[in-house]
Formats: sequence, C-alpha cells, structure tokens
Amino acid sequence: MATRAEDVLGVPKPVWKTDDVVMLQDMAAKFLEAEVLPHYERFEKQQIFDRAVWRKAGENGLLCASMPEEYGGAGGTYAHESAILEAISHVGVDGFGIALHNSIVAPYILHYGSEEQKRRWLPKMATGELIGAIAMTEPGAGSDLQGVKTSAKKDGNHYVINGSKTFITNGQLANLIIVVTKTNPAQGAKGTSLMVVETDEVDGFERGRNLDKIGLKSNDTSELFFKDVRVPTSNLLGTEEGQGFVQLMQQLPQERLQIGGTAIAMAERALALTIDYVRERKAFGKPVIDFQNTQFKLAEMKTEATIGRVFYDHCVERHVTGGGLDPATASMAKYWLSDLQGKIVDECLQLHGGYGYMNEYPIARMYRDARVQRIYGGTNEIMKLLIARSL
Ligand SMILES: Cc1cc2nc3c(=O)[nH]c(=O)nc-3n(C[C@H](O)[C@H](O)[C@H](O)COP(=O)(O)OP(=O)(O)OC[C@H]3O[C@@H](n4cnc5c(N)ncnc54)[C@H](O)[C@@H]3O)c2cc1C
Repeated sequence: MATRAEDVLGVPKPVWKTDDVVMLQDMAAKFLEAEVLPHYERFEKQQIFDRAVWRKAGENGLLCASMPEEYGGAGGTYAHESAILEAISHVGVDGFGIALHNSIVAPYILHYGSEEQKRRWLPKMATGELIGAIAMTEPGAGSDLQGVKTSAKKDGNHYVINGSKTFITNGQLANLIIVVTKTNPAQGAKGTSLMVVETDEVDGFERGRNLDKIGLKSNDTSELFFKDVRVPTSNLLGTEEGQGFVQLMQQLPQERLQIGGTAIAMAERALALTIDYVRERKAFGKPVIDFQNTQFKLAEMKTEATIGRVFYDHCVERHVTGGGLDPATASMAKYWLSDLQGKIVDECLQLHGGYGYMNEYPIARMYRDARVQRIYGGTNEIMKLLIARSL
C-alpha cells in the first residue's frame, strides 16, 4: 500500500525528490512495515510507542536525517525529512512522533545552539537515546503564545523554571524538551527564551497524564510540570535571553510545512485504500466503483489531491533550494492541505459505507487521526491571520 499511495495520483516526481530522497522513502517504508506496523495496534492500545522502536529507527537512519554528519545526522535537508514523514503516512503509522523530533526539535538546536550544545545533544538525538519534544502550549496559552507564563529566573549560573505545559507531543517519552519560558515577563514576547531541559538530569520535573485523545492514539501527548527545575545557564538556546519569540517565528514555517506534508500523504493513502475498496465491494449486483456518484466523488478527490500535491511539492522546492518559504505560504500549506485531508478522508469513509465506521478498517483510524491536523501547529484560523498579514 505504501507504494500505491504514492502512485495513486500519477504526478511526476518533483525535482526535490532526488534519487537519494526516493531511496530513503522506500527504505523508511520498509522499516515501518517491518518494525512498526506489526506492533501498531498494541501501541494504539497502550497509547505510547515502545522506546526501543526509537532506537531501531535511529539505527536505520530515520532520526536526524537532515542534521549535519558531524553531529551524527545524515547530512540531508528537509526533503529527506519529508520522505520519512510521507512514508509514515503512506504506511499508516501516523502516531510515530519522529517527524516532530526530526524536523521541529532538532532544527532549533542546530540553528540556535552553541557548538557545545550541538555536540552534546544532536548525536544522541540521532541514535534515539534522546527523544525530543517542544513545550510551548500551556493550560492558559495556546494560540496566543505571548501569554506563556512558565518562568525561567536566573540564579547564579542556573535558571530556575516554574510552570506547566499541556498537549505536548512525545510528552511521556521525551528526555530532551525545549521549553518556551519567560525570562522577563514584563517584556512580553521580547522576554521569551527557549530552555533545553534534559529531564534525566534535573529534579522538580514531573510528567502529568498521558492525555486520552480521539485520534493519534499511539502517540503520547502529555501535561508537563516544572517546579523549581534548575538548568545550567548554558541550556539557554541562543546567544542571549529574549530571542525565543523570534526563534519560534523563524522555525514555525517548517513545522507548518511538515503538517501539510503529512496531510497530503494521508489523503493519498485514503484515496488508494478507497479505490481498492470500491472495486471489491458490490451493491445492487455491481462493484461500487461502477456507480457514477462514486466515480465523480473519486474524480473530484483525485483532482483536489493532485492540486494539493503539486502545491506541497512547490513549497518543499522553495524551502530546500535556498529561496526560502515565507511564513504566509507555509501557513497556506498547513491550513489548506489539512482542510483538504479532512474533506478527503471524510468522503473516503463515506464510500466505505458502514465498514468505514469500524475500527478494523484503516479509514476509520485515519478519520480520527486527521482531525487534529487542523488544530495543532497553530490552528487553521491562526494560519488565516498570518496569511492575511501578507495581503
Ligand atoms: C494532539 C495534539 C498535539 C499537540 N502537540 C503540541 C506540542 O508538541 N507542543 C505544543 O507546544 N503544543 C502542542 N499542541 C497544542 C496545540 O498547538 C494547541 O492546541 C493549538 O495551538 C491551539 O491552542 P489552544 O488549544 O489553546 O486553543 P485556543 O487558543 O484556546 O483556541 C480556541 C479556538 O479559538 C480560535 N482562536 C484563538 N485565537 C484566535 C484569533 N485571534 N482569531 C480567530 N480565532 C482564534 C482557535 O482557532 C480555536 O478555534 C498539541 C495539541 C494537540 C491536540
């Protein structure tokens, strides 16, 4: 199914999918089919992956593919990360939180970390010894990140962190967490700083509940609590305090592009699964695909998915070839592709009839997994605000 999901649109291979990127995608799909898929139902039930799978992913080159080789990575670009995240969605193991680790958490360390920080953390992230998370959201601050209350007060050569976070992806497994804090609450956004907390090295850090979600069941999403957590001042990301908000604004476009990539890959898988299903399923003495309504629905979906794929490829091309992806276009990719994913998965479920509502059919899980894509990484409403700023 992995290959068919990719081929279902018949779109020519984009320039950014160079031979090594294609090879990585095939290799990732094979790894996920062999090492993750057979256990995926168990991960869904226990609502968390086995830590051992992360180590295996590291051994197989699925972690930090875009980090430089000198820091333990594979020296690739976002194109390589996209290959991996597309393989995850095509194989259908969407709760595996490595995309966040790879293309959200690690880049903060690469771009803003000192040489010492990069050498300390990135090689361990590449092996899976360290699992990454980023903790922005708080019970009282989600869309409005300027409202973050978690504080980091300087005390000699340490910062003392107090506060709580919620909805944090990889929150139970993570042992390297980038925490959005206020080092100077009076200065609002300008008082924001990013702190790296190595959870195995500190006292006062506690994980709350592994939150019970409607989808992405296999991913651990958690509350986190910081009570007088002391980290060395050398754990600040950036050369001085107060750079956190700008750092977030610079990195969020890649997070949004990544959500768009997952969205289009999941839509492709939904289409591939549904075309197979309606060919097999019979009603009124003929395959469901022979009804004109089915053909029209699939024709519409294939058209829209093709538009989505071409737009995503355009965004990746701009992102990896130096020109750069501006925040407004990244927001378009996140909002439009996740909306499209929701629409396509819903219509594909409809074409499965009652079976689509049964958890034993993959489309049911995809329906549940798709919903959050319009919420996290900045809601789609916030994306429209950002796009509107470019008018
Ligand atoms: C499964 C999951 C995983 C997540 N992973 C992470 C993670 O790893 N790290 C992390 O930090 N966060 C994470 N989040 C949090 C996520 O990013 C936030 O939930 C999201 O940004 C929205 O914030 P909120 O939930 O506080 O909603 P609110 O900000 O309370 O928004 C409520 C509603 O109001 C709308 N709204 C808010 N402001 C405006 C406005 N100005 N104009 C128009 N409408 C507006 C929103 O669009 C939304 O519809 C995750 C969330 C989920 C569900």
